[in-house]
Amino acid sequence: MTRMFVPGPVDVASEVLQAQTKPMVPHRSKDFEALFRSTEERLRKVFFTERPVIQGSHSGSGMQEMGIRNFVDKTVLACVNGSFSERWYEVAVNNGKEADRLDFEWGKAVTPDELADALKKKHYEAVTIVHNETSTGVESPVKELARVVHEVSPDTLILVDAVSSLGGVKIEMDAWGLDFLLTSSQKCFALPPGLSFAAASERAMKKAESVPNRGWYFDILRMEKHRVKDSTPMTPAMSLIYALDVQLDRMLEEGLENRFARHAAMSRRFQEFAIANEMLPLADEPYRSKTVVTVKNAKNWVVGDLNKFLGERGMRIANGYGKLKDITIRIATMGETTMEDVDKLILAMQDFMKL
Ligand SMILES: *Cc1c(COP(=O)(O)O)cnc(C)c1O
Repeated sequence: MTRMFVPGPVDVASEVLQAQTKPMVPHRSKDFEALFRSTEERLRKVFFTERPVIQGSHSGSGMQEMGIRNFVDKTVLACVNGSFSERWYEVAVNNGKEADRLDFEWGKAVTPDELADALKKKHYEAVTIVHNETSTGVESPVKELARVVHEVSPDTLILVDAVSSLGGVKIEMDAWGLDFLLTSSQKCFALPPGLSFAAASERAMKKAESVPNRGWYFDILRMEKHRVKDSTPMTPAMSLIYALDVQLDRMLEEGLENRFARHAAMSRRFQEFAIANEMLPLADEPYRSKTVVTVKNAKNWVVGDLNKFLGERGMRIANGYGKLKDITIRIATMGETTMEDVDKLILAMQDFMKL
């Protein structure tokens, strides 16, 4: 097996993979409903929310679409500081919304001051923010950003994509006052791809009632009507829910605080190695991601060659994303990855440098 230092899909523990081989049951059955309720209850802990968590049988981009279709009638401000935040802007445009973008240089975080200024100039129904820009390895200060939105434009809804951080980094939905928080299964949750999770605040649900054309598949009010009966309007990805059941137990057994500390420590260890070898992180402190370290490819490595070398030792890293493809490299420290794995990767890279 290859240890994937790649920001999704990441390695899945074998007992979690195994859980998917359980036989199907009717999804409208007491057994499945009990399981669906139990995974939902445990997801609330990971989201730090009392609000219900939707378990969607689609990847995280679908949740970006759900956010736009349900909580934006016309106007939305998309904070764009990398590829995934740009995708959310495009999702809004493709759904016919009046989307404005607030651009930041790739590698920089979204800043509270600039967001406040933009909200003073024009009123928006919602803002979209990516907590952890996987394309650049930047974590934006969502707690502070939410605070300025509450101050400057209290009725603007705060929609947050935490696809590559939730479950590996502490994000407190209720305490921070977030209105929609979403993530995918294949990153810090270390599950196979195909599920995504999201929670919406009460006022966001209220707003959805006034938004026309919410569609069918992503209509959050329809989802909620079925969720209260521990069910879904459509057939859920049952095998993945079996896997989620096992993985949530493993995550809570490790302890969420321990899990967050492990992610941060692995990221720090790799950053220290990179800096000592003149491969500077793209992001400045304190905005360096705790789950995907992105460093400048200062040695002009051909990532394919590096991966061939690492592959012989059972490891794989990622090249840069989008326009940063050749000028950065990315090392994901998420999910099942351990400090021992990170140390092995560092040793291998030291050997690669000697070639
Ligand atoms: C991976 C990723 C996405 C896309 O998620 P899918 O599950 O592939 O649809 C969106 N946002 C961020 C920040 C990501 O890292």
